[in-house]
Amino acid sequence: MRTFRKKILLGYGASLLLIIVVLSLAVVLILRLGRASESILQENYRSIQAAENMIDAVERQDSATLLILLGYERQGTAEFRENETLFLQWLGRAKDNITIPGEKEILDNLEKSYTRYLSELSNLQLLYRSEPARATNAYHEVILPLFRSIRDTCIKLRDLNHETMYAASNRANKISVQAVFSISLIGGVSVIIIIVFSLFLSHLISRPVTELKEAALHVAQGNYDVQVPVRGSDELTLLATQFNLMVEKLKQFHDMNIGRIIAEKRKSEAIIRSVDNGILVVDDNFLITNLNPEAAKIFGVLPEDTLEKHILEVMRDEKLFHFLKEALASGQPPQMEEGEDILTIKTGEESRHYQVSIVPMRTPSRVIPGVVLLLRDITRLRELDRLKSEFVMTASHELRTPLTSINMAVKLLRESAATKLTDQERALLEACHEGVQRLRALVNDLLDLSTIEAGKLELAFEPVQPSFLCDQALSVIKGQADAKGIELTLGVPEDLPEVTADPHKIVWVLVNLLANAVRYTKAGGHIKLAGELVGKQVYLSVIDDGQGIPLDVQPRIFDKFVHSKPSDGNGGSGLGLAISKEIVKAHRGTIWVDSIAGQGSTFTFTLPVAA
Ligand code: ADP
Repeated sequence: MRTFRKKILLGYGASLLLIIVVLSLAVVLILRLGRASESILQENYRSIQAAENMIDAVERQDSATLLILLGYERQGTAEFRENETLFLQWLGRAKDNITIPGEKEILDNLEKSYTRYLSELSNLQLLYRSEPARATNAYHEVILPLFRSIRDTCIKLRDLNHETMYAASNRANKISVQAVFSISLIGGVSVIIIIVFSLFLSHLISRPVTELKEAALHVAQGNYDVQVPVRGSDELTLLATQFNLMVEKLKQFHDMNIGRIIAEKRKSEAIIRSVDNGILVVDDNFLITNLNPEAAKIFGVLPEDTLEKHILEVMRDEKLFHFLKEALASGQPPQMEEGEDILTIKTGEESRHYQVSIVPMRTPSRVIPGVVLLLRDITRLRELDRLKSEFVMTASHELRTPLTSINMAVKLLRESAATKLTDQERALLEACHEGVQRLRALVNDLLDLSTIEAGKLELAFEPVQPSFLCDQALSVIKGQADAKGIELTLGVPEDLPEVTADPHKIVWVLVNLLANAVRYTKAGGHIKLAGELVGKQVYLSVIDDGQGIPLDVQPRIFDKFVHSKPSDGNGGSGLGLAISKEIVKAHRGTIWVDSIAGQGSTFTFTLPVAA
């Protein structure tokens, strides 16, 4: 298989080969040029040098001849012979270096003329010795023309070599021009081939990559109908094939998911629509993104009119909007006190009440920016509650008068007729007395609670020392605690700041908590009344080491008629803590319990420090 790597290597190998060819050609041409220049020097320089030297020698010989004719025979002859040797030496060298056509003929000619010149000169010497006057004539007629002919032949030889040299130089020039031209041509062609190849290669590499990139972009945008063209058999083609396969699988998966999501969405919409509570969904900009017909009915709007509208345009309740903001910011349901989660909507004469739950949207792994508001119609429940309270109040009221009479009668009987009764009758009378006491306590509690719930509890606030309240409560309960053998301690500092409270009601709360502690603590147990200042609140706590309250009952312990154990029902009405809570609430305080079953309980409530 031709791999992608091989393709690149092959391409660059071809380019390298081209560069090597161009370089080799350049080297060959430069060598040829060098050799041409060398031959010019080698071939012709020696011949020119020989010709020049021969001219030199023959000219000196001519001067030596004239010296002989002037009478200096010995001197002239010596110089003549000396130059003869030189001439013959150079002639020999010139003959050894015959390279040009015609050069041989010239040299042959020269040799012949020179031989003649030498013999004619011997003749001239002889003539000079015999007849000096004729010798001068002979010189002019024979020797001088011969000398000139020799010199001209030498000059011819030199010129011939000069011309050859010139021609060779021209040839070298031509070769160099040719070399430049062919190197440029082949170099240029190579550059074009390499550029074309590089473009082709980059295109070859980048095209599939670009196609892949564009396809990936489409897929990222949710378009799964893209396919990358598959051509060739290299790694990129393999990648393209795998990519196409992956996109196909993604498309199948996506289609399947879309179908499922649409089905789920319809299901959820159907559920939301069919719920008979109002449901309203708000995004992180407080714009309504969904609301069911019930919610639209509650707010008296059309669902399509409210979508994308600000929640405050529909639900004009600043307090609930504040909680909604809190839920969006924290991702947690807001902490709403009792009553704060009620939305009252007035339509004409009628008022309807809805309990609002604010639930931030979240998956198991993350919080989705948005909140769901659930509106539960509690108008009927409230009405029932009111009727019930009214009934309890009326019944308790009606029961109180006959109970007082019965109580008085039983009391009288116990005091006056006790001695006349049998033991059995006296036991019955005691049971009757106990029952009347409990009934009176229950009726009183019921009456108190109904009064508080109906908002008819009257409070007389005044600044008061917490330790004073605690002393009062302790003095009431001390007898009971002592009777049961329970140790009672006061741990409320004297220097706590005064609180704003109705002393009677708070003493009532403290007595109730202490009475419970005594009731649910075994003999030999301990009860402590503690107090501390936290910020602008005084915390008062009743701590016991009694039976404690199970964890699952603790959140409901302040509700009416709740007992941690069924057997506890024998002890009290189950209204004490409910009344305590209402009283503390009326003081703008809070009450809570910390308890571990079997180890004891701590009931704590707060009171505001007096301004
Ligand atoms: P009751 O009159 O029955 O005491 P309360 O409202 O005062 O009514 O108390 C409700 C229930 O809370 C009790 O029945 C009891 O089960 C539990 N309880 C209250 N105080 C204590 C305490 N200190 N230790 C254990 N349980 C307690």
